[in-house]
Amino acid sequence: MTSVEPLATPAADRGGNRKHPDARHFIGGQFVGGGPRFLDVLDPSTGSAVSRVPLGGPAEVDQAVEAARRSFPAWAATPIKERVQVFYRYKTLLERHLTELGALITEEHGKLRGEAEAEILKAIELTEFACSLPQIAVGEVLEVSRGVECRLERHPLGVVAAICPFNFPSMVPHWSIPNAIALGNAFIMKPSEQVPLSAGRIADLLREAGLPDGIFNVVHGGREAAESICDHPGIEAVTFVGSTRVAKEVYRRGTAALKRVLALGGAKNHVIVMPDADPEMAASGVLAAMSGCTGQRCMAASVMLAVSSTGHIIERLAVQARGMVAGRDFGPVITREAKERIEQAIGEAEQGGAKILVDGRGTVVPGKEGGFFVGPTVIDQVRPDMRIAREEIFGPVLAIVRTGDLEGALEIENASPYGNAASIFTESGGLARRAMERAGAGMVGVNVGVPVPREPFPFGGWNDSKFGAGDITGRGSIEFWTKSKKITTKWNREAGTNWMAK
Ligand code: NAD
Repeated sequence: MTSVEPLATPAADRGGNRKHPDARHFIGGQFVGGGPRFLDVLDPSTGSAVSRVPLGGPAEVDQAVEAARRSFPAWAATPIKERVQVFYRYKTLLERHLTELGALITEEHGKLRGEAEAEILKAIELTEFACSLPQIAVGEVLEVSRGVECRLERHPLGVVAAICPFNFPSMVPHWSIPNAIALGNAFIMKPSEQVPLSAGRIADLLREAGLPDGIFNVVHGGREAAESICDHPGIEAVTFVGSTRVAKEVYRRGTAALKRVLALGGAKNHVIVMPDADPEMAASGVLAAMSGCTGQRCMAASVMLAVSSTGHIIERLAVQARGMVAGRDFGPVITREAKERIEQAIGEAEQGGAKILVDGRGTVVPGKEGGFFVGPTVIDQVRPDMRIAREEIFGPVLAIVRTGDLEGALEIENASPYGNAASIFTESGGLARRAMERAGAGMVGVNVGVPVPREPFPFGGWNDSKFGAGDITGRGSIEFWTKSKKITTKWNREAGTNWMAK
């Protein structure tokens, strides 16, 4: 096991009076300084800078690839049962540091402490899945002709990478890190430049868990670093999670460079509410789905398709939304620009004739006047052609579209170019089954506002919410992070031969 270098850096690296030292790249088992270009990392709840992130590019990606390439052969040659021992230890470290890791997410991202800790719990669950890979990722063997055996083995790809979004600084990277590494690859993570701090702790803890130097690397930066990853001939596969616009660019660029790419994009998730739905379950379920993580989830419900007489449920939802307190029940959005963009979209819907039932614009938390808060916003009488009903807003905004029947609701849901998630609230098994059959989304739910599949079920949407084959987690990830070798042997001459075995 390698010794752990303390995180603290000299005051000169703090770029002023920021609470945290500058984030640093992590290459070949060492934290290395960046520069000359840095970006401020802001605490969205106050708007003040807490750190700086270096903006890496081709040079840093190249160094990380070299380090990873050097370490890969020995790691690939380590039996998988030994490799996952690192992740058993890592899981324990995540548990031990849960509070501290959650607090760091709250600082760099703004989400509430409970939401941040839930994210670490999900990272732990993803790590548990990787620990189980020796039981799942076994090969296959069959006597295909007399005395002739075919066998299929899975081999790691080499150096692989993940380009990550801002909204889950720890969970989304863990969709890729444990599985890719446990399956024998050497890994490069590019965190979102908006939330770079958690990546440093992931590197620390993986090192403490005994991961050999060079198998996990972090290159910080934005577009330039991501593009360098897509272009680098030494990187075999890339997962991307972020907006649909960038997912398309990364998918095209990475595959043009002949890599495997799985690119998860944005979303516009519909939740259908039937008049027979349990009023409390539906109202609180939809509210949690639209306002959790301040609506900054790719699984957030952003359109409610209210079928027929559902006014009593909408009323209940609005009352609960009005009772939510900024800073206690919801955190800020990520940037001032995001707040302005969301508030502008609400204003546009209002001007277009929609009715604002609950207005989260202008939310201010006393003592945190510089924070980027937008309160839960519920908008009724939205037409399906309005921008607020079609585009991803990525904030705590629910657009309610009224429809006469389930078929009308499903038509609207199916017309969306996205396809991440869809849900229905109803007490009728028949209606629920119909909705699950017809919904044009990869993850669907009944009486569940956020239908995230738990491990070992894989995560992944359809259409403009995902580009590339397979899913990012679960069994699908085994296919993505490995290549298969088919071996045919004939040792058993005593078995005799037939026409296929000569
Ligand atoms: P983003 O697309 O702006 O950025 C994602 C990553 O791409 C970042 O690391 C960023 O540095 C990099 N990047 C930015 N522009 C780039 C470019 N032109 N070329 C290459 N790389 C570039 O997304 P975001 O704002 O960080 O995250 C929010 C988005 O992510 C939302 O749309 C949300 O729905 C989506 N998301 C999707 C899922 C999913 O599972 N489908 C999960 C989480 C988030």
